[in-house]
Order: sequence, then C-alpha cells, then structure tokens
Amino acid sequence: MVLSFFLEENMIIKLEKLTGHAKDAIVGKVLIEVGQDINAGDEILSLESNKGAISVKSKASGKVEKIYVHEGDKIFLEDKICDVDGEEQPEEKKASGYTFGFAKQRQEKISCDIAIVGGGPGGYVAAIKASQLGKHVVIIEKDRLGGTCLNRGCIPTKALVKSSQVFTTMKHSEDYGILADQVTADMDKIIHRKNEIVDTLVGGIEYLMENHHVTVVYGDAVLLEDKIVVDTTKVKSEIIAEKVVLATGSEPVMLNMPGTSHDRVLTSVDILELKEIPDTLTIIGGGIIGMEFAFIFASLGTKVSVIEFADDILTLLDDDVLDVVKSKCREMNIKLYTSSRADEIIDDKNGGLITKFVDEKENYITSDYVLMAVGRRPRYDKEALEILNIEIDEETKGIKVDEQMMTTNPKYYAIGDVTNIIQLAHVASHQGIVAVEAISGLSTKMSYDIVPSGIFVTPEIGIVGKTEKALIKDEVIYSVGKFPFASNGKALANGSHDGFVKIIFDEYDVVIGAAIIGYGATDLIAVITPLIEKGVKGSEIDHTIFAHPTTAESIHESFLDRKGASLHHVSNTSISNIESTS
Ligand code: FAD
Repeated sequence: MVLSFFLEENMIIKLEKLTGHAKDAIVGKVLIEVGQDINAGDEILSLESNKGAISVKSKASGKVEKIYVHEGDKIFLEDKICDVDGEEQPEEKKASGYTFGFAKQRQEKISCDIAIVGGGPGGYVAAIKASQLGKHVVIIEKDRLGGTCLNRGCIPTKALVKSSQVFTTMKHSEDYGILADQVTADMDKIIHRKNEIVDTLVGGIEYLMENHHVTVVYGDAVLLEDKIVVDTTKVKSEIIAEKVVLATGSEPVMLNMPGTSHDRVLTSVDILELKEIPDTLTIIGGGIIGMEFAFIFASLGTKVSVIEFADDILTLLDDDVLDVVKSKCREMNIKLYTSSRADEIIDDKNGGLITKFVDEKENYITSDYVLMAVGRRPRYDKEALEILNIEIDEETKGIKVDEQMMTTNPKYYAIGDVTNIIQLAHVASHQGIVAVEAISGLSTKMSYDIVPSGIFVTPEIGIVGKTEKALIKDEVIYSVGKFPFASNGKALANGSHDGFVKIIFDEYDVVIGAAIIGYGATDLIAVITPLIEKGVKGSEIDHTIFAHPTTAESIHESFLDRKGASLHHVSNTSISNIESTS
C-alpha cells in the first residue's frame, strides 16, 4: 500500500502518507457516499499525485457519516477524508493467517479466463487489455510488477541517463551564462532518485491492476498440464485458466570464459545498484545496453572502454548516425575496441580486474569493474514447455509463436522477450494486446515492419522503418532528405547542435524510414512512425505547418530537402542509391 491514513478517536480518516516525498495529490474519484456501509479494505478514494496514481483503502468498517473531499480537490497530508461511524479494523488483524504463532499456509483455487505468467510490459499490458475486453484475468509475478523494463531496464537506465546529463550540463553551465562551482555527482543520491521513480511506477501498475479488477498472485508460477501452481510460504494457489499467456521475459547472458564469477563483474542488473562512480569501467558488448551504460558512466567521469566482437558498435545503425556517436565517444574519451573477442577476466589482486581480449593480437585493459552486456536470453523452463507441447523456435531460440502470438499448443500464447523476436518493451506490450485480442476472437495480427526504437546514448537516437544500410544491401531504389540540428534555432538555444534528421523515401516518394540523432530524437521519431504506417508521400507533408521554434521543424526541413528545397540549410544531401547500385 502506497498511502495510508489514521483514525482519530472520533473516527475521522485523514491522509497520513503519500508515495515518495509527495505532499499533495488530486482526488481522482470519491468511491464512497454518505450513509454507505463500508468494510475495512474497501477502496474509498483514488488519487492522482505527481508520483503516480494511488488507491486509498479503508481500515475501518462502519457507516460513512461525512465526506470532506470532492473529485478534483487538491488534498494535502493530514487533510480529513471522511468520518466513519464504526470501528477501526487494522488489515493485519483481518487478514491474519496465523494461529498460535505458527504460520499456516492458505490454499486457494482460482478459475479465470486468462492467466498471464509474468508482470512485465508484455504481461501487465495484456492484463489491462484483456480486462477491457471483459475477461477475468489473473497475473502471476514472482518479483515486482513492471518486469525488467520498470525495475531493471528502460526506466532505471533513463533515470541514470538524466542524472548524467544534468551533471554534464552543470559542468558546462558557464556555456549558458550560469556559474556553478564544485559540481559533484553523488551516486547514492542518483540511485535513490532512480529507485523512487521505479517505486512510483510500480505503485502505478499495482493501482492499474486493482482498477481493472485483475487478480495479482505473487510467486513463481509452475506450469502443469491442467493448472498453474504458485506455492509460497503463505499461500498455495492453483490457477485453472481457459488460456494462458506466457510473458516471462529474458535474463542477461554471461560469456562462457574464465573470471566471470568475480563480484566486480557486473550484469546490467548489478550495475544499476552500484553505489560508487568507478574510475574505470570495461564494458563487454557494444550493443544498445552496453553503449547506454558507456555514455552514462563516461558522463559521470568514469574512463570507459568498450570491447565489441562485431566490426562495429550499434550495428543496426546507418554509418552517418554512427559517425556522430563515434565522434562523441572520442570527445568523451570512450575507447572502442571493435572486432575484438573478450577471452578472460583476471583479478589483479589490487582491487582491479584485467580483461584480456584478442583482435589481431592479445590485449589487456585494467578497470575497477567489468560490465557484461552481451545480450539477453529468453527465460523459460524447457522441460515444462516440452511436456505442454510448446515448441522453441530454432532460429530465435524463443518460444515459437504465430502472427497472433499463439504457441504450438493452442491453449498457450507467448509474448515479449520470451519470444525473442524483438527485445523491446513496446513490442512486448503490443504483442500482449494482439494475444488477448486473438483470444477474444478478434483477427488482429502482429507485424514487425514498423517498430520505432530509441537508443539513449549522447546524443540520443530514434530510428524507425528502413535503414539506408538495408536498402543498399537489398538494392532498393530510395532517396533521402536530411537536415542538421546545427541549423535549427531551438536546438542551438538548447545547446544541442549535434546530429540531424534523416528521412528515407522510396522511388514513389513514400516515406519508408527515418533516423534522428540529436536532442529529443526518441520523441521526435514518433512523428514519422504513423507516416510510414499510413504510406504517406513526401509531397503530402510539404505544406504542413510545424510550430516555431521547435526541433520538429527539422523534420519538415528534411522533407523539403529531398528535392533540394530546404529553407534553412543549403545542401544537396538528397541522395539515391540508383548510382551506387548501378
Ligand atoms: P520482462 O519485462 O522481463 O518481464 C517478465 C516478468 O516475468 C518479470 O517480472 C519476471 O519476474 C516474471 N517471471 C518470469 N518467470 C516467472 C515465473 N515462472 N512466475 C512468475 N513470474 C515470472 N526496451 C525498450 O523498449 N526501451 C528501452 O529503453 C529499454 N532499455 C533497456 C535497458 C536495459 C538495461 C535492459 C536490460 C532492457 C531494456 N529494454 C528496453 C528491454 C525491455 O526491458 C524488455 O524488452 C521488456 O522488459 C520485455 O518485457 P517482457 O514483459 O517480455 O519481460
């Protein structure tokens, strides 16, 4: 429970506590009426605070005599909520499963339309959608709702990205005419802020589950042929479901080489709890996760080295985008070792780790910590799946699914990282929607053609649709419109002139892809996604008005640039691979 209240002798219920450091909230819904009989545990209010949505429950049973709050009111800590003519009944007493001091395990059987295993962005979004479609849903989570994304992935990393950016801005505040002395970064406080954001969001998901009447069962789900069993010390739950959605996510992979068990060899989970800013950090893996951490720690002052097996970092990106990233790496002293195979991690016995890696020769780097960021594997119990006739896809090594996310056993669906198709939170969520719509008899299908993605390096990157790299490989005719942020007024005012907007068109002028690198790129890319989805032509955007001054104007300028008609930049970047392929 994120919020509580206390009862005075005269039974006035007051607001005692809010999540985090919030001091006030807006009353969303008042769920009680004067004269109504309520029981302890009944929801009496929903609140919207700046830390997320919160549900307030009653610990008292009795008749509501007076209500002090109305929908839309601002409510502060200690404010009165209502008077109750009745008795306080603390929840602990009510729900006690203990007799004579001995714990007694409660047994419960739950029948439902859909059981969802895993409460990450795949599972919890599927639960909400299924509830909206009128299904009785049970979600089983062995850790915290929100999964990797909220607890150990997307959100915590972006909280760290923000702290590292604030630090960088403060260090260069003189550029903005602001003088600040002795700017330091406090890792304890950075991690505390990150944890508060995560807690708020997890609280929000708990509220959403309650609000959509989704039953949440906490514990490790074991799949049996006729039911799912969740056996914890307090409760043993047996869940019988018409359909089951598997949303168990993925886990970090460790390279199989000597030295990885050292406690200074970290996964992406461990590094999120690091309470110090290391002087030196070696990152094995130059993919998205590795490079995001490289920029976070380099911004905080760590000397970062990245060892990548492939011949480049972030191999999905076009070369012009990578050029900006690499130039930033040079500026921030992030050392990149590509075409290099990490072979061994050796304890130097002085508190440091030596990473041995091989390119044409043997090389050694010493660092305080090593981060292993070499990918994530789908999380499933192979034997349990075999018994249930749920097959694994040979290629992806994830659970095999069709376009409606159904596995090879029609009772079971699988979504998110466990399918290992694209490991992104919004893909997991969309797969969840497709799965429960399919279960509900709708014909929705999953398509992976137009999936936007954000990469939170410096400057950040948004991409969607086709890349030039792929078009050249497939010998497809295309053209490009491009506009540098250095020619955009808002970007300069922001102090972020690096990067550009690039839009890619097919031979009929239809938008088929985009890459944006620069301030706010991960938000700007959202403008392009529906254009690609709807098959919009460049000529349809030429007369669209974009607000000034915004970085979005660079999108318009890129459209104009495809025919050499950019207004604020003289260039002839509109290229086509007609020549390059002929
Ligand atoms: P998960 O989020 O992994 O959730 C699965 C849940 O299932 C977990 O909570 C787990 O406890 C539970 N579970 C597993 N087995 C059982 C069981 N037997 N019983 C009960 N519960 C079980 N994606 C983006 O789109 N944008 C980003 O910026 C981004 N940044 C990332 C940064 C990092 C460092 C990492 C590691 C990942 C990042 N991702 C990002 C990827 C994103 O987190 C995943 O794609 C997403 O979380 C997958 O969602 P999911 O629901 O499939 O699985």
